[in-house]
Amino acid sequence: MLPLIRPDLADLAAYHVTALETTDVPDKLDANEVSLDLPDWFKLKLGALAEDQVLSNRYPDGEYTQLKQLLCQYVGHGITTAQITLGNGSDELIRSLLLVTCLHQGAILVAEPTFSMYGILAQTLGIPVVKIRRNETDFALDLAAAQNAMDQQHGGQNIKAVFLVHPNSPTGNLLQEKEKQWLHSLPPEVLVVIDEAYFEFSGKTMIPELADHPNWLVMRTFSKALRLAAYRVGYAVGHPDLIGALEKVRLPYNLPTMSYLAAMLAMMHRDELLTNIPEILSERERVYQGLQDIGLDVWHSAGNFIYARSGNHEQDQALLIALAKRGTIVRQTGGGLRITIGTPEENTRLLERFQYCV
Ligand SMILES: *Cc1c(COP(=O)(O)O)cnc(C)c1O
Repeated sequence: MLPLIRPDLADLAAYHVTALETTDVPDKLDANEVSLDLPDWFKLKLGALAEDQVLSNRYPDGEYTQLKQLLCQYVGHGITTAQITLGNGSDELIRSLLLVTCLHQGAILVAEPTFSMYGILAQTLGIPVVKIRRNETDFALDLAAAQNAMDQQHGGQNIKAVFLVHPNSPTGNLLQEKEKQWLHSLPPEVLVVIDEAYFEFSGKTMIPELADHPNWLVMRTFSKALRLAAYRVGYAVGHPDLIGALEKVRLPYNLPTMSYLAAMLAMMHRDELLTNIPEILSERERVYQGLQDIGLDVWHSAGNFIYARSGNHEQDQALLIALAKRGTIVRQTGGGLRITIGTPEENTRLLERFQYCV
């Protein structure tokens, strides 16, 4: 590596994923996207906006006020625009949170298996990552291990941020009461991030608790239930001071104009975009049953995905490859397989292909 590059980046692999070939598209059930593309009427409206309203030679509106106002209505619970900031995907928000709380200040705590991006982004900033395990029956946090980690120093630093997904990815479990109690016990100098990327599927939110917890922040995304993964829009809801700090480190015009317009249009038509959620949820129960009948270990999920294990890592990997050869792509992560719930046809093919492979 060139001597000018930070040596601690040497062990880090680039995360980026190549898009699948557009011809002969397999069933892509590996990234928890919704399988249905946006309806034609939505695309036409967005195209018309691009034609009529976008000055391509001009920068976007840098404040994104209108979208924040629409989000306040959607989020509810009396949240105001001063409590919302926008990111180029929630990934950008994670990095901004690390910049305003942990950089040169402290470590982060994650409980595995969980979303890998918290640890990866912390590493790119030289922020220590403390990993604890979850209990293997219901994937709740090992609270003794969590408290022990909080009480210790890590490379001379205290933990300054705890990242949790609600429901967790890849395991699909919601936070239990005892886990929430532990979060309540954390001191005000520790940031608690509750990533609600799957909120529209779970219907469960911690937003009402923000009023009593200035150190808590809820993150959400347009990439999953709202079907805008191509546009990269995420948002964070929290105390105005914390949001103000995130605004300070936000890059100018971080949302391209088309992403901003797509997100606004999605908010205005959210009921129509979210109509297929009940079907995804009932399909999730069918897939759960099917995977169990095949003989896999399966866990109930509050998201649009299911976590399953065949028994060991090698067998999971063999299954993943055999499924991919037959045309269904799933994700191996956290010691198991994470399978996105697709269309009914995709789910039926998934179960058929699994039967051949097991
Ligand atoms: C998919 C996902 C996100 C979304 O990230 P974007 O950058 O907004 O696309 C965030 N958190 C978790 C846990 C996810 O699974």
